[in-house]
Amino acid sequence: MADEHQRTSLAYDAADEYRPEPPRPPELPAWKDGSIRIGIHTSIAGDVVRALDLAEGLGANALQIFSASPRMWERGSSRISEADAKRFRDRRKELGFGPLVVHDNYLINLASLNPVLRARSLQAFHQEIIRAVALGADYLVAHPGSGRDGTSAAAVVAIAQGLRQATRGLKLGDLQILLENMAGQGSSVGSRMEELKAVLDACPDLPLGVCIDTAHLYASGWDLRNPAGLDAALRAIDQVIGLARVPLVHVNDSKTPLGSRVDRHQHIGKGKIGLEAFRRLLNHPLLQGKAFIAETPIDRPGDDRRNVARLWRLVGKTVRVTGRDGMKPRRRVGRAGKRRRGVRSAGRR
Ligand SMILES: [Zn+2]
Ligand SMILES: [Zn+2]
Repeated sequence: MADEHQRTSLAYDAADEYRPEPPRPPELPAWKDGSIRIGIHTSIAGDVVRALDLAEGLGANALQIFSASPRMWERGSSRISEADAKRFRDRRKELGFGPLVVHDNYLINLASLNPVLRARSLQAFHQEIIRAVALGADYLVAHPGSGRDGTSAAAVVAIAQGLRQATRGLKLGDLQILLENMAGQGSSVGSRMEELKAVLDACPDLPLGVCIDTAHLYASGWDLRNPAGLDAALRAIDQVIGLARVPLVHVNDSKTPLGSRVDRHQHIGKGKIGLEAFRRLLNHPLLQGKAFIAETPIDRPGDDRRNVARLWRLVGKTVRVTGRDGMKPRRRVGRAGKRRRGVRSAGRR
């Protein structure tokens, strides 16, 4: 019933556009204190508040989460209770974490023209925004979508229209929606900066920006391995999008070669892009003030901790961590066997 109601309220009416709120005086969130922000995608399995403590234990001061299962359509209400949301916001404040990034569900395709998939996508994205606002997120990262049949231009129109519909009637507050650049697999939109810019331009009233993913950049043909290649990529992003609209970088090494258009993340420094390229990237003058968040795989216990530590080392800092990690033994139980009790990986993606 609730579902039906939601769907009806999302019916598209071309005359009903997003109405911007009157501009508020700019207010800087506490985490924008000029300090370097490094985070990692963290599982919310079990309890959303736990993700904050998990990320802190990994040495991060920023984090990205899914706010619901990333590979399932929601059934019934996927809202986060106000009590849980408040616990989350309070704990986050205590930890001084930021930015808080929510990544949208992988099934959402705002470019789809299939009526069923489109309705589900718009509904799910609408709910993504509601949850992100409830959690006090700074950014909601969205994959632009994939236009199966039709041109890239048609897909761009569908995405822009989808964003306007899904945000209709919602107060976004300080939440910004960031479209992520893509590796260029299949008919996905967003491997070219011009496509992302076209969506931004088509939604002038929405608080939109861009999240740059290094693995996707590399797979889409930007050679980040050498200084000239990195400069060329950043200059192109600046010229087309404007780096002021790129507050977040997904730092992922790539398992796949340059221009492969295949999206496979690898541990920082262990893939085709390599450690020195990440050192240049993290310290690049054009990227100062950006937040860096890893979405690296978990192959072995401690991988998240190692990737975060590596990123800090690349900016010349070491962090002391409490050592809690999704797959790392939490504590020893019992004297006799010194048995290690661990938490299994909750599955990042
Ligand atoms: Zn990414
Ligand atoms: Zn990716």
